[in-house]
Amino acid sequence: MQRPYNFSAGPAAMPAEVLAQAADEMLDWPDANGQRCGMGVMEMSHRGKEFQSIYEAAEASLRELLEVPAQFKILFMQGGGLAENAIVPLNLSALRAQSGQPGVTDFVVTGSWSEKSLKEAGKYSQARTAVSGKDGGFTAIPPVSGWHLSTDASYVHLCTNETINGVEFQALPDLKALGSKAELVIDFSSHVASRPVDWSKVGLAFGGAQKNLGPAGLTLVVVREDLLGHALPVCPSAFNYQTVADNGSMYNTPPTYAIYMAGLVFQWLKRQGGIAAMEARNIAKAELLYGAIDATGFYMNGVARGARSRMNVPFFLRNESLNDAFLVGAKAAGLLQLKGHKSVGGMRASIYNAMPIEGVQTLVQYMQEFERTHG
Ligand SMILES: *Cc1c(COP(=O)(O)O)cnc(C)c1O
Repeated sequence: MQRPYNFSAGPAAMPAEVLAQAADEMLDWPDANGQRCGMGVMEMSHRGKEFQSIYEAAEASLRELLEVPAQFKILFMQGGGLAENAIVPLNLSALRAQSGQPGVTDFVVTGSWSEKSLKEAGKYSQARTAVSGKDGGFTAIPPVSGWHLSTDASYVHLCTNETINGVEFQALPDLKALGSKAELVIDFSSHVASRPVDWSKVGLAFGGAQKNLGPAGLTLVVVREDLLGHALPVCPSAFNYQTVADNGSMYNTPPTYAIYMAGLVFQWLKRQGGIAAMEARNIAKAELLYGAIDATGFYMNGVARGARSRMNVPFFLRNESLNDAFLVGAKAAGLLQLKGHKSVGGMRASIYNAMPIEGVQTLVQYMQEFERTHG
């Protein structure tokens, strides 16, 4: 059975193979030797040997896939990207301030998500805007030469892929080369595992799982060890990275089923050839779709070419009165959830790892056919 292609921005499509495996294992989970244990994963104690093995395999696969260096901790948390907007300043804003005092944090605002991060961090730190792309409608990444970095900031926050605006950093800035002593914090929620990460430039990365890793409910945090232990006294214990790390992400009950599902996705990614292979496919998918958008005047995408996201492709019909007809026809053609975010309008195709090239080819054919019959 051919499932429809699902372009949702998140929660997003999962690999069908992974869903089928989870269905098979739902009532009675088999271990690596195929030995069934009489329980589904949702019913297991997080401290039992069965779930421990699921957890350890998931963490090890992720470390291998993303090439996370040994001096970084991988934490499996809850609360999503939005909770991290508070949890990061609660843990890191005092890095370069007097112990226990909220310090200065810098924000590079490239779209809706970094804008939200800045606002939330203002509750727990002296949050400053280093630069903002808002005047340009968040259609480009402001060049580093125009960033106003504070001399005393504990960290600089970037959202490396702006899910709503479709703007992606193609390389991470080298803060040291820019004369900053701050750590780099990245929100990589919507492109994690779509491309490699240059960990030499990063202090902490966080992301919700529901875009590219698995189901909602799991939040991934990767943090360099030496950044632990600086939380403000008011930081909730369950959100103190040091506490979470010391307890192997089991200070409180972790989102066990979401960790299991993400673990299945990690195994699937390895079978696909790992992150380098995924990146090559993601480049091919993005080139195909942007090429189709740019090919005629019927569709358009306003993001500067060097800043276009490989994962989230917002596009518009020049004649917006055709939007509803476009979406109705798309659904009939097995192309789901293409409506753009309400703040941007138009359409958005999210083409994460789980979207095969055939899905993008089908979308492009539909777009061409729609133009032929409505142009
Ligand atoms: C989806 C998203 C978030 C918010 O995640 P929640 O899990 O809803 O809190 C934050 N940042 C980015 C870049 C996102 O795409």
